Amino acid sequence: MSREQGVGRKISKCNILPYPDLNIQCLPTRGAHSDLKSYFIGNLSKFKLKIFDAAHRPIPLFPFFIFCFLSAAFLHAGGVKDKQAALDKAQADEWAAIGEPRVMAFPAVLTPGEACAVIYVHPQGKMPEGLDGRAALYNEAGKKIAEAALFPYPLDEAGHGAQAAILSPPSTCTPGKATIRITSMTKRPSQNEGKAESASGTASGTIIIAERKFAAENIPLNPSNTSLRTESDPKKTAESARLWAILSTTGTAIYSTGPFLTPVPADTRRSSFFGDRRVYQYSNGKSDTAVHAGIDYAVPKGTPVHAPADGKVALACPRIVTGNSIILEHLPGVYSMYYHLETINVQEGDSVRTGDIIGLSGSTGLSTGPHLHWEIRAATENTDPDAFTAHPILNRELIMEKLFAISISSDLK
Ligand SMILES: [Zn+2]
Repeated sequence: MSREQGVGRKISKCNILPYPDLNIQCLPTRGAHSDLKSYFIGNLSKFKLKIFDAAHRPIPLFPFFIFCFLSAAFLHAGGVKDKQAALDKAQADEWAAIGEPRVMAFPAVLTPGEACAVIYVHPQGKMPEGLDGRAALYNEAGKKIAEAALFPYPLDEAGHGAQAAILSPPSTCTPGKATIRITSMTKRPSQNEGKAESASGTASGTIIIAERKFAAENIPLNPSNTSLRTESDPKKTAESARLWAILSTTGTAIYSTGPFLTPVPADTRRSSFFGDRRVYQYSNGKSDTAVHAGIDYAVPKGTPVHAPADGKVALACPRIVTGNSIILEHLPGVYSMYYHLETINVQEGDSVRTGDIIGLSGSTGLSTGPHLHWEIRAATENTDPDAFTAHPILNRELIMEKLFAISISSDLK
């Protein structure tokens, strides 16, 4: 169908710059329609597009569009290449300008029990070899309140990077200003291992620990739960030693930088909160205090428990106090834990992906009813899981922004 055949009526015409000898026309494919508006509403599918050259010869559509696409792709690729080269050059200059070690914390304002990522960038973004560093947090009185080993964290494909540590001030710490100190220690010969550290350089930064209120909780325990908690048992001691050995291990694998999901739907009712100040009322009339290390979700027995992030199974076995238990490793020194499960669906050493069902909830071990206890540890300290679901614990984009001050960013992001 064409204008020449007298079926359609020319209803639009335009020039495509920079090719002024081409015209585009939209032609109704059948019927005569005087009302353009109603035609578009009722019969849009019956339109077809034809393109004519200056001599009114129709131009085949398919090769025309291929030509347009290739031209656009060529022009775009040229622009992208130039832009990328300029960006690469600017970034290389910025890395070269880093002359002093930099210490940054994300977030730099937090509350007791909330983890932060400490980032240590060496001059020029080079990670020196043979150095083994640690990051520590000191309160205003000069007391060390948290410490973690640094691990390598690549920041770009050109080989620049930082060292990172995930630290959490304890939920019981006093609010106020805290100092981060980075100590780079030359790796010592093996015969000196465990002796005095030889510091080859230090750097520091600060964070602000804001006020936070925690709930109080009274938990009466029946005789069997009382004895689970109070009676000494060599098996319990061995289980604690193994757990502590796992949590104290800082590997190098970065399985997930977050944000994490919750292991059960996020709106599930919580029967206990992170940092609850607990008083256990024993059946013998005595009592003891403890701080709740995680979140308890009030889920019925048999509820699927999902991996909140990619990771590796570090422990999957029954334990006396925590019942059927799973520990996942997500980042160097960062572990998530699942207690009182009915069943365990994974094995130690397994890799898990976000959302995988790792077990079913239950009420095994020291438990007063079916629930899921979810806990996260950072460098052995129990830390608020909500901070891990709220934002990524390691955010490369934010680190680069702050490092090069490309734009004003908030530490609270
Ligand atoms: Zn719990």
